[in-house]
Amino acid sequence: MTTTRRTPVLAIHGGCGAIPKDELTPDLNRAARDALRRALQAGFSVLTAGGPATDAVTEAVAVMEDDPVFNAGYGAALNRDGYHELDASVMDGAAGLAGAVAGARRIRHPVRVARALAEVADPLLLIGEAADEWARQRGFEVVDNSFFTTPSRREALERMLEREREGTLAAAPERDKHGTVGAAALDLHGHLAAATSTGGYTAKPTGRIGDSPIIGAGTWADDRTCALSGTGKGEFFIRRVLGHEIHARMLYQGAALSEATDAMIHGEMMALGKLGSGGGAGLCAVDKDGNVALPYNTEGMYRGWITADEIYVAIHEE
Ligand code: ASP
Repeated sequence: MTTTRRTPVLAIHGGCGAIPKDELTPDLNRAARDALRRALQAGFSVLTAGGPATDAVTEAVAVMEDDPVFNAGYGAALNRDGYHELDASVMDGAAGLAGAVAGARRIRHPVRVARALAEVADPLLLIGEAADEWARQRGFEVVDNSFFTTPSRREALERMLEREREGTLAAAPERDKHGTVGAAALDLHGHLAAATSTGGYTAKPTGRIGDSPIIGAGTWADDRTCALSGTGKGEFFIRRVLGHEIHARMLYQGAALSEATDAMIHGEMMALGKLGSGGGAGLCAVDKDGNVALPYNTEGMYRGWITADEIYVAIHEE
């Protein structure tokens, strides 16, 4: 029997709601880039040790869940009632298995629980208190909901609620609207996986669930094509089944990864945005040959990738 040995690669994003270039202080710039590098290194060390892509994406996302620069885990966005409802998912492109949690309130690392659900296969997706309880019973760390709150997320909520009262919601900066973290990886054995985690968007209606825990929308992985994680207006990702659409374009039309991802992010999402309340979107993706795509249609997206030879991180066009 022959085994495929591939050069491992990991790509990540920290959301397409990057702070505008002229507001990026040297401290925030450094903090964001350091966090991206730490996430890349955590995931890549799993890959170089011969570990599975599913573990690599989980570790990379867990690092970003711990960092308040990003909208996931600690430092996640607040819903309109002032608390956190966290969504996450993991998909394994080899087995086609997936796991997800939605509207979780107490799970410290939602991505780790999504990873565990991918292993049990059924149930695939757990919501709210049931997800918290499932995690607690299996020894995952649970915390008070207030653990996730930071002063800057509180201020962002106040700004958004103020805009709502004034009727200027559509003009809110991408920074206040978007954020999510995600990872896609190809491991040494030729297997792909993807993971996503988010607090959703600031002042989202309580109970609203976005694309991040929806397999085929914000997360997708299939060894025949690609693995990807999305960020942006979740309603649009779900309506276009964006992750699966990119896979289908590659599988049935023979599209290259960059072609399929550009068509969705720069084409379809922009077009949908003109109809609705902004189609700001981006993603990180890796295909079965190790090609990376990191398209976004906003001013910036926290992002990066790593191979054995190189590590790259960026925020705006650079
Ligand atoms: N996709 C996330 C959601 O809709 C938010 C974001 O990435 O901006 O929940």
